[in-house]
Amino acid sequence: MRSPSSRDAAASDAPDLFRNESAALDKARAMHASAAAGAADYRQSLGELIEHFQRLMRETRRLIGRSDRAEREMQALAQQLAYRASHDALTGVLNRSAVIERTAKVLRTESAVMVILDIDEFKRINDDYGHPTGDAVILGVVDCLRRIVGDAGFIGRVGGEEFTVLLPGREAADGALLAERMRAAISDSLVVAPVERRITASFGVSVNAAGTSFDTAYGLADAALYRAKRGGRNRVEFADR
Ligand code: GH3
Ligand code: MG
Ligand code: MG
Repeated sequence: MRSPSSRDAAASDAPDLFRNESAALDKARAMHASAAAGAADYRQSLGELIEHFQRLMRETRRLIGRSDRAEREMQALAQQLAYRASHDALTGVLNRSAVIERTAKVLRTESAVMVILDIDEFKRINDDYGHPTGDAVILGVVDCLRRIVGDAGFIGRVGGEEFTVLLPGREAADGALLAERMRAAISDSLVVAPVERRITASFGVSVNAAGTSFDTAYGLADAALYRAKRGGRNRVEFADR
């Protein structure tokens, strides 16, 4: 155990934040204990205490303000981090891990249509016009999807130029209609300069009962997508049920 004197020595190494206040307090205590102190002594001591007390209040307010600001900044940062961890940086749609998590969550309790789409001949766009133009095409495709999907479901980017759209609680007919509208929106209206050829995507759709796993829903839609590619692209195919 350390002796009191060594403890005092250690404590005195640290700067005393309240050195002036402590001195004023010691003086006031001595004055308070002294039977001989007169009104003038009390008055002076009280004056000093008032001055220090006001300074402490000012400082405390400033520190509380600063810590409130720091807390707000931390909350904003935590929100930003959570957003970045679950969203694709280029397009702002859900990233792969968030798609898997959200889809699995929906399918635990309700049925859902899963649409997978993959941009057709995308490698040629990159090769002929460069990567930044390829990125602009990806953004254009996501714009088309957002316009059609609205709040009927959520869009995710599961691979480079491959996206999923999950439509919770939708039936096969709804899914077919929405997938066809997405296909048409891209094929009929998406123009990204300087790309001169038509931009299209192929779609695979699976209709999944509650309790279906992500892998099954995805695998079925992916097999349908593969048929859409083999069947000539720019088309929607459905999983065998
Ligand atoms: P298919 O019609 O069969 O889908 O042919 P494809 O050329 O679209 O398919 P492929 O898988 O051969 O090409 C996908 C390309 O996407 C390859 C890769 O370089 C590119 N890619 C992946 N991610 C990005 C990205 O974020 N930006 C850009 N510009 N290109 C990307
Ligand atoms: Mg492709
Ligand atoms: Mg692909």
